[in-house]
Amino acid sequence: MKGIAIEGDRNVSLKDFPIPEVGLNQVLIKVKSATICGSDLHFYRASASELGKRTSYISGHEGSGVVERVGDKVRNVGIGDRVAVFHRFGCGYCGKCRTGWPQYCESGETNTLVMGQATNPVISTGTFGEYMLAPSEVCFRIPDSINFESGSIIGCNGITAYNIIRKLGISSGQVVAVFGLGPLGLTAGILLKRMGAIPIGVELSEERRKLARKFEFFDAVSSIEELRSVLKTISDGKREVDSALDFTGNNTAINNAVEIVKPLGSVGLVGIGPGLEAASLSPKKFLERGVTITGILVGNVLNMYELIEFVSTYKIDFSRIVTDRFRLSDAKSAFSKAEMGSFGKVALEP
Ligand SMILES: [Zn+2]
Ligand SMILES: [Zn+2]
Repeated sequence: MKGIAIEGDRNVSLKDFPIPEVGLNQVLIKVKSATICGSDLHFYRASASELGKRTSYISGHEGSGVVERVGDKVRNVGIGDRVAVFHRFGCGYCGKCRTGWPQYCESGETNTLVMGQATNPVISTGTFGEYMLAPSEVCFRIPDSINFESGSIIGCNGITAYNIIRKLGISSGQVVAVFGLGPLGLTAGILLKRMGAIPIGVELSEERRKLARKFEFFDAVSSIEELRSVLKTISDGKREVDSALDFTGNNTAINNAVEIVKPLGSVGLVGIGPGLEAASLSPKKFLERGVTITGILVGNVLNMYELIEFVSTYKIDFSRIVTDRFRLSDAKSAFSKAEMGSFGKVALEP
């Protein structure tokens, strides 16, 4: 079968790989859609030596498809099922894994156990191929009402956005500032809107602001000064920002997010940007006003059930944020488009 390997230094290539054998608890999935995530771009930009063995395996961790084969012990999905995959898995037995947080698996192997970033293709293979191999515990059936692109987005962007919204306890009617309107911010905006909240985007790219307005964001602005003006148009100017989400990982955006929320409001950090490690935030900014700050890397795998139900019930179509589609054979164009960063989601079709 064909699959894409990320080779480092902005090189990707389409190669031939053997179709993997399924182990007792594994599922072979015929990929119908795969989408490029921001973290795939970290690998794309890395050097070949930083990537090590990963350069010789199929990449990609967002994907969905139809079950082709299952191992003898698999009970949760069967041949012919349409499935989405959650992209992280751990030992399956420690406290973190059992409570849905395999990304914090106590076995210490966390970094090797990400779909498509695995250093052992016997455990799993990535989503940027004709088939992918996944442990059964990360496979979730999706109904016919959820298209494959939405299914692909649910497994990383969707679950991450959903989890930070849940963690902040955002409820209907609340004003939420969404910093960064890339695919993750757009996904969050769509979910917030369906939950009855009032998302307002803050984004420097004009194209992305335009895209956000199409998705029923209340508005999309380029600065917090503009955001303050927009607030004056809601409920006779009496509203404040109840919560803010940052998907940029940018120091200025994080500081703006903390500054713009109301006293006792909350801020959720999700974005990992190049300047995140050097980001600085004065405690004075949040301490005096009692602002809660929290963060999340990716969502809880157990939330996949309710997110799939939510997306299906409210007929949410995440494929609306896909602005570019490429065949696997045109992966080079797909990655350079994704890296330009001024568009929506980039999808790959086998
Ligand atoms: Zn991802
Ligand atoms: Zn574990």
